[in-house]
Amino acid sequence: MVSYLEFQKENFGEQLPVDIKESDSNTEVTFSPEQIVSLKPADDLSKITSTVKSEKQSPTEGISPDWRSSDKLSVLEGKIKNCMECSLGAGRKNFVFGSGNPNADILIIGEAPGADEDEQGLPFVGRAGQLLTKIIESVNLSREEVFIANIIKCRPPNNRRPLKDEIDSCEPYLKKQIDLIKPAFILSLGLTSVDSLLKKTHKMAEVRGKLMDYHGIQMIVTYHPAALLRNPQWKKFVWEDVKYLRRLYDDYLKSKKG
Ligand code: URA
Repeated sequence: MVSYLEFQKENFGEQLPVDIKESDSNTEVTFSPEQIVSLKPADDLSKITSTVKSEKQSPTEGISPDWRSSDKLSVLEGKIKNCMECSLGAGRKNFVFGSGNPNADILIIGEAPGADEDEQGLPFVGRAGQLLTKIIESVNLSREEVFIANIIKCRPPNNRRPLKDEIDSCEPYLKKQIDLIKPAFILSLGLTSVDSLLKKTHKMAEVRGKLMDYHGIQMIVTYHPAALLRNPQWKKFVWEDVKYLRRLYDDYLKSKKG
């Protein structure tokens, strides 16, 4: 069995198998698993809101004690971005708060920042992120329209999975983000994401393809894009899942119009 680190290395190689084709109708996207394309850096990420720094932060910094009273995402980010509540704070280059529309109807939640995200201070900008961008766009959504965040905000060493105490330390920040964004839908990417959100261990087969509930918010669970890089045969499931999300979202938009 490949170890998680080997798995990560393999996933973040020079080339990436992509079989999601953009289409102007959300039902016309097709898969061709053999197709291999070299990916360019993600589109204009400068439009996406987030503080980006290149210097390492001082480990003596911390959160503002009044962060819970933040009434805007940008205020919240300013108050928590120097967090040192767990040991990951000392090793990060950047706190990866999340990015996108602060009033998004759809909140996408991944696992943890990797090297590229740590470097740029933005979520999902590495190769898995570029695949996520294609997945989002395949159902006629954009990164600017949704909000993208992670279960934890700082990169774990060697991209290992987040530990329970790291997840627990970061959870209040994600909850506060959810309170402020008030999304109608959550798209949870991978088992670390859904297990952390629902505080239970799941199997992907039990949770994907159905409507889940996160404290009253409709939630769809699907494979993490990094898992798709290694298992391209799973892309068809993600495609079904995001089309399902799109249908729910369209119904929601219709019902909002009256
Ligand atoms: N994987 C994640 O779960 N989140 C990121 O931001 C990047 C890769």
